[in-house]
Amino acid sequence: MPVEPPNDVLAHHQQVEHDLRRKAETAQLLLDAARYLGETLEIERVYDRFHELLADAIQHDGVVVSSFDERESLIRCEYAWVEGEHVDPATLPELKLSTAGGMQSEVIRTGRPLLENDVGGRVAGDEGGTFYDVDREGTVRKLPDTGPTHVQAAMMVPIKDEGRVVGVVQLMSDERTYTEDDLELVEGLVGLMAGAVRMARLQTERRRAEASEAAAKAVAAEREQEARLFKAVGDGIFYVRREGVVRFWNRSAELITGLSSEDVLDRAAAEVVPGWAAIAEQVAVTEDDSVPRVARVPVEVGGRELWLSFVAVGRPEGVVYAFRDMTAERELEQAKSDFIATVSHELRTPMTAVYGAARTLLRPELDLSSEQRTELLEMIATQSERLAQITEEVLLASRLDRGEVTVERDRVDVGELARGTVDAMQPHLGAEVTLDAPQSAFATGDRDRIQQILINLLDNAAKFSPRGGGITVSVSQDADHVRLAVADQGVGIAPSEQQAIFEKFYRVDPHLTETPGGTGLGLYICGELAGRMEGKIAVESEPGRGSTFVLELPRSRTAE
Ligand code: ADP
Repeated sequence: MPVEPPNDVLAHHQQVEHDLRRKAETAQLLLDAARYLGETLEIERVYDRFHELLADAIQHDGVVVSSFDERESLIRCEYAWVEGEHVDPATLPELKLSTAGGMQSEVIRTGRPLLENDVGGRVAGDEGGTFYDVDREGTVRKLPDTGPTHVQAAMMVPIKDEGRVVGVVQLMSDERTYTEDDLELVEGLVGLMAGAVRMARLQTERRRAEASEAAAKAVAAEREQEARLFKAVGDGIFYVRREGVVRFWNRSAELITGLSSEDVLDRAAAEVVPGWAAIAEQVAVTEDDSVPRVARVPVEVGGRELWLSFVAVGRPEGVVYAFRDMTAERELEQAKSDFIATVSHELRTPMTAVYGAARTLLRPELDLSSEQRTELLEMIATQSERLAQITEEVLLASRLDRGEVTVERDRVDVGELARGTVDAMQPHLGAEVTLDAPQSAFATGDRDRIQQILINLLDNAAKFSPRGGGITVSVSQDADHVRLAVADQGVGIAPSEQQAIFEKFYRVDPHLTETPGGTGLGLYICGELAGRMEGKIAVESEPGRGSTFVLELPRSRTAE
C-alpha cells in the first residue's frame, strides 16, 4: 500500500477542507438566496433581488436576463444592468435563435451552461452568432462591425422550467476571468431565481384568474339576484333585444298572458307578444335615470281583453318592459263611472217629476181641480219614495261594505211573511202574483231584511217582465232549510251573467235604452244580507223564458 508523503497528505487535506468550506459557504448563500428570492412574488422584484445576490457573490460589469420563446424561436431581454445602471430591456433587440453559433443560442440549444474567458476571441471566430455590446446608457452596438468588445469574460446559464430552456442569464466582466466555481455558484442562483420567477408568474396568473373569476361571480350573482327579483315580483317582466328578439319572460308574464317562456323566448316580439304593435307604439322607452312613464294598453289575450299598464326602460342592448294587469281595477273604475251615471240618471227622473208637480201646484193661474191636485201630490209622494229608496240602497251598500250592518237572529215565519208582503205589493206590481206557501215555515233570520229581499226580488220580477206574465212566490222547507223562491216569465238572464248580477253596480246592458232603470245594487244587497243571515241567494234562468231567484235560509230549530 503506497504511503503518501506527509506534505502531500497535508496539502490534500487542506484542499479538501477548503473545498468543503467553499461548498458550505455556497450552500449557505444559496439557502439565504432561496429565502430572499422566495419572499417576493413580483417578477421585477425577483430580478432585482437576484442581481443583488449576484453582486454580493461575484464581480461583474453586466447582467442580462433573457427569456426564450420556443414557439417563435426568439430570445428577448427581460432584465439588463450594465456598469451600475439599469437598462430598459426593450432597448435590446430581440434575437432569433441561431442554429450554429452565438453564445446564448448555444446555451439554449444544449441546455448546458457556458463559460467564456475570451469573449473578444469568441466574437471574432463565431460566424453563426450575433453579438451586441450594450453600454450603461443603453446604446446597443453590433459586434464585431463597430469595433472590438470590451467584455473579457462571460458566464451564460440556462433558466429551466421542467427541463426545458426558457431563458438565459448572462454575467459579464470587463476585467477578470471566471472559474468553474463561479459558474457553479451562478448556476445555483439562477436555479433559485427561475423557481422564484415561476412562483411569481403562477401567482400573477392566479391573481388574474381569481380576479376574473371574482368578476364573473359578481356578474353571475347580480344576474341571479335580478332573476330572483324578477321572478318574485308580481309584475310581468320581459326583455326585448335591439334586434327585436325576446330574451327574458318571467313567471308573472306567463301567468298574466298565459304564454309560457318556451312559447316566447328567442322569438321575435312582433310575432309572439300579444298586442306588440300597440305596446311598441304607445309605451315610451325611458333611456336615462328619469322616472318611466306608465302607459295603459288594451291587449287581447286568449280571447279576453286585458288592460295592462306598461313601463319600458332602455338598456344598452335592448329594452326591459314591466307590466301589470289592471283589468280588475279598470273594470271597477268602469263600474263606478257607470254607477255614477246610473245614479244621476235614476235620481234625475223622480226629481224632475217632483219638481214639475210642485211647480204646477204652485202656479196660481192654473185652476186645478181637487182630483188633479191629489194626483200631483200622489206623484210627488211616489217619486219621493223612489228617491228615498235609491238613497237608501246606496247608503246600505256602503254600510254593508264597511261591515256596519247587523242582522237579527229571530224566528221568522217565512210563509206568513210572504203572504203579507205579496198582498201588500200586489196592487203596485202590475203583474199577477201567485203564492204557493205552507201555513207556516220557520227560518232563523231578520224579518225586515227577509222582507226587503222579497220586495227587491218581486220588484225585479215585474221590472224585467216587459211583456207581462205571472209571478210565482213559493215557500218550501226541508230538514235544514226554508226556501223562498220568486219566479217570473220575463226576459231571463244569460248564463254568463248569472253570477255577475250579484256584484255591486252590475247591470246587464246598462247602456241599452229599453233596459229598465236601476242602480245595480239591489241584488248585491240581497246577496250580502242573505249571507249575514247564514243563508244564500241563487238564480236559475233561461233567457227569454224567465228567471227564478231562490233565497235559502237556515230552518229555525226552536220549538214551534
Ligand atoms: P237593478 O235592478 O237596480 O239594475 P239589481 O242588482 O237588482 O240592480 O239587478 C242587477 C241586474 O240583474 C239587473 O240590471 C238585470 O239586468 C238583472 N236582473 C235582476 N233580476 C232579474 C230578473 N228577474 N229577470 C231578468 N234580469 C234580472
